[in-house]
Amino acid sequence: MKSVMRRDALGAGLQRASAKSVVRMASARAAPVAPRTVCQVAKVDEVVSVDEELERLRKENELLRAQLALYQQNQKVAMGSAAVTAPAAATRVLEKPAPAKQTPAAALDGGIIWPKPGEPFWDRSPRASPMPLQGGAAEAPPMERDGNPMHIIHITAEMAPIAKVGGLGDVVTGLAKAALARGHFVTVMLPFYECLPKDQIEGLKHECDIEVPKGYRWDGEMRVGPLKTSVFWGRVQGCPVYLIKPADDTNCNIFRGGRIYGGSYNEMEAYLYFCRACLEYLHVTQQQPHVLQLHDWHAAAASLLYWDVYNPNGYQRTRLMLTIHNLDNTGETRQDEFYFTGVPGENFATIDKALDERTIGHNPERLNLMKGGIVYCNAVTTVSPTYANEVLNGGAAGWLRSTFARPELRTKFHGILNGIDCEEWNPATDPLLPANFDADRPAGKALCKEFLQKGLGLEVDPRKPLVAVVSRLVPQKGIHLIKAALFRTVEKGGQFVLLGSGHSDPAFRQLADGQFKDHPNCRLKIMYSERLAHMIYAAADVVVVPSMFEPCGLTQMIALRYGAVPLVRRTGGLADTVFDVDGPAGSPSQQRNGFVFDGSDDGALHGALDRALSLYNNQPARWAALQQDNMRLDVSWGKSAKSYVDVYRSISA
Ligand code: ADP
Repeated sequence: MKSVMRRDALGAGLQRASAKSVVRMASARAAPVAPRTVCQVAKVDEVVSVDEELERLRKENELLRAQLALYQQNQKVAMGSAAVTAPAAATRVLEKPAPAKQTPAAALDGGIIWPKPGEPFWDRSPRASPMPLQGGAAEAPPMERDGNPMHIIHITAEMAPIAKVGGLGDVVTGLAKAALARGHFVTVMLPFYECLPKDQIEGLKHECDIEVPKGYRWDGEMRVGPLKTSVFWGRVQGCPVYLIKPADDTNCNIFRGGRIYGGSYNEMEAYLYFCRACLEYLHVTQQQPHVLQLHDWHAAAASLLYWDVYNPNGYQRTRLMLTIHNLDNTGETRQDEFYFTGVPGENFATIDKALDERTIGHNPERLNLMKGGIVYCNAVTTVSPTYANEVLNGGAAGWLRSTFARPELRTKFHGILNGIDCEEWNPATDPLLPANFDADRPAGKALCKEFLQKGLGLEVDPRKPLVAVVSRLVPQKGIHLIKAALFRTVEKGGQFVLLGSGHSDPAFRQLADGQFKDHPNCRLKIMYSERLAHMIYAAADVVVVPSMFEPCGLTQMIALRYGAVPLVRRTGGLADTVFDVDGPAGSPSQQRNGFVFDGSDDGALHGALDRALSLYNNQPARWAALQQDNMRLDVSWGKSAKSYVDVYRSISA
């Protein structure tokens, strides 16, 4: 009854919103992939396609621009200008103009703007002109297309690159783009955080306002009233996105502040409201996607609300999937807090529903949103087969182990390995790199290493193994093992670079400002920078991921693609993606590609790191072959997106 009244009240305007949404979905699907030009032009005695001819002219043009930039740079240096530092390598190019005599790396370095000491070089473009290397071996394999397209909507707290804190953001964008490429209708629903970079949202526009039922505190009691909510629409990297926030943000601080999480608002209140707002919007615009894919605890409450409020009789076709990215945070909430959704939490406070079993006998007992999602969703996935097994049969379920012991819940649980977005993470086209490279043209990687060494003020030496960690700094990531890797690498004469931030910052800040301040072989950057992360993967020889547990992990896959050899602790998704070079031969999908250790003591890590450094130092040809083979591995979303579509189909009504 309540919902009928709301529909009447909003009336025709919302019907219009619905029609617009449908048109958008259709056009999202029809968005053409630019076809290769087929017409050809005749040259004297050969036939060259228009594309090839354009490509040749473009490259010629870029080379000329690069040379001009170099010339201008050197002019400035000759005139004593301090504005641009003339890099030694760049000067080399002008001194040796005959291309035939240049090394492949020297031929690529035209156009690089080398860093000056102390410069935050990651905040600007590394080149004066784009790199003339495109496509090639690093291009993602073409995506297979599925028949019978499905309509999928993701509800999520993160979406890369506009709202990324960790892997969740990467996964949502990568999977959404892959399913779109397979021919499905895909949309993402995301909080409209105040800090989103609006210039990265294509065609951003206000879609409509709706009234969302929301609980609020009044005189110490929870009451329900409507909160006017604005829905915006745009595209992020081609993927349609709805962005949701309270309409009047002068009176309400939900999603306000300079960060994705930990803004000035109450996170639990904000995500509970967000879940209700997403369902309310779909309801008033009469959208019934085949599947709503809910990501982590932030979106899990949508499953409780869907079956309790919006589809109690099961007549609507939409089915729900929960994807668990990490069981470290499961969304515990007080029953009265759940009222922020407009629905009393007591409705779900039983063992078979969402009661947090740790709190039985407490006063009051609490709810666990992830548990509710597991119970109320038609399918539950997690992000690698090994982590799924650790959840079902090992200790990874933690406090949710009795939930995962229930036979009816075990059978709907699947482990699907994440991929990476191979457009975003492509060393052959990555505009954030000073030089591009791929398996067939690896020379640019040496320039990336030189660039990073110069930028970070490390000793510039191509022979020193550069070991890197790019990570959130939280206990999950094996803080003591990251430190062990740092000390061992420096002790063995290598270089160590860390890019990370999180609760465990202080210990690393202390090292950065103390023992390793201005160290020629160690740099610890305690910060978050997407741009610097790209440069580090491209420069690194080894990327260390020593997690205590790891649902999937993306850094080891990015490392493979960027020709850095991964060194990982055997757990979760790391065990599914990295296979030891000295280990037994596995199946073709388990090509030996890195270094793996068991155990969680420093000695275990040292063993693997020593083997890696020894191979790097003593067998350069084998190391180079390993890097090149790794760059050819398929770490894209192709296979995994198909597995997701199979699960969507298995639950769809
Ligand atoms: P998690 O989701 O647990 O953080 P993943 O390995 O799944 O770990 O994903 C981490 C993602 O976040 C990768 O894309 C990685 O490059 C990125 N990342 C982690 N820390 C930083 C940082 N300090 N700066 C930039 N990117 C980071």
